[in-house]
Amino acid sequence: MKILFLDQSGKPGGAELCLIDIAKPYGDRALVGLFADGPFKDLLQQNNIPVEVLATQEIQVRKESSLLQGFKSLRQLAPLITKVVKKARKYDLIYANTQKALVVGALASFFSRRPLVYHLHDILSKEHFSQTNLRIAINLANRFASLVIANSEASKTAFLQAGGRRNIIEVIYNGFDPKTYQPDESDINKLQQQLELQGKFVVGHFSRLAPWKGQHILINALAKCPPEVTVILVGDALFGEQEYVQYLHQQVTQLGLENRVKFLGFRSDIPQLMSVCNLVAHTSTSPEPFGRVIVEGMLCGKPVVAVKAGGVMELVEHGLNGFLVTPGEPEELAQVIITCLQETEITATIANNARTTASLRFDVATINQQIAQLLSHRL
Ligand code: UDP
Repeated sequence: MKILFLDQSGKPGGAELCLIDIAKPYGDRALVGLFADGPFKDLLQQNNIPVEVLATQEIQVRKESSLLQGFKSLRQLAPLITKVVKKARKYDLIYANTQKALVVGALASFFSRRPLVYHLHDILSKEHFSQTNLRIAINLANRFASLVIANSEASKTAFLQAGGRRNIIEVIYNGFDPKTYQPDESDINKLQQQLELQGKFVVGHFSRLAPWKGQHILINALAKCPPEVTVILVGDALFGEQEYVQYLHQQVTQLGLENRVKFLGFRSDIPQLMSVCNLVAHTSTSPEPFGRVIVEGMLCGKPVVAVKAGGVMELVEHGLNGFLVTPGEPEELAQVIITCLQETEITATIANNARTTASLRFDVATINQQIAQLLSHRL
């Protein structure tokens, strides 16, 4: 099967990293068409996945902006659709991986008479999207998609509540290669020295810097923890959230935590960085559709604390394979950090359980088989 994947972003967020794993097995039978140039293109090339930047002008990718406004004008949309239609004729199906890819993919599917699959990586609710965007996404999916792949039950439920058709949607979790999350001991030690983290209790946060990812909650929690607790913030503002980055730096200074918080920016060595942590924290203040970092932390054999909302509830069982806290509650988060610091044996057992179950539940080979089966049955 030959697949034309479409993604609006030039930057590698969770949806884009997931796409790499899905497109890889198709080799030359796949093409990833991007609507923006950037480091995501380089990552695809490093993984030997054919890629082309299809849009000539940059398209606004802020989630809160209107989908159509994002394309600035229909004048911008028309050449892109023409290009995608031409490409699509050489492929068996169009696989839209983001919302703007859905807009272009739906129209291209109509004109090229190729089936459309929409991979839904979002919770389509008013908390995350404007009413107009929701309506456009649901109507296009209902009208044009043969299959919608939701990344969690939470994303599926929101799709149905917003009026999505039940008979087109299936849940498939993100897949991961467990081997990637077992880095060399020597690399871990080197990193620990470079970052001057020896003897510290390291809490890692791995997310783009954005208000709803809740890095400020972790910083507030840190202020309530003993001095050996240190935080590393891994990730950058991918979609222009510079004000929030400034806010975080001010917050760290105001709380006198300059020596206990490290901003590491966007990194590609996530398994190594997670391995230097004693705990991985996930602090989103709005429901997370899936939460790749949670599974990655588990695969690294690290205890994970995450918030009780959205897709996270399908990944973490409190006290069994991780810890759950109320979103936006630094006090509760601090309590869990202190428990992990003090109760090392129980915490290690929980982390080991998590590693075993995550390796089985989210194995990329099995997940890719499930997707291939769905594509062949539905299309
Ligand atoms: N990530 C990364 N480098 C960073 C920060 C994050 O590669 O500096 C990865 C992280 O490991 C995860 C993804 O970005 O695989 C984020 O996915 P998640 O589902 O947690 O959040 P999203 O970006 O989709 O909202």
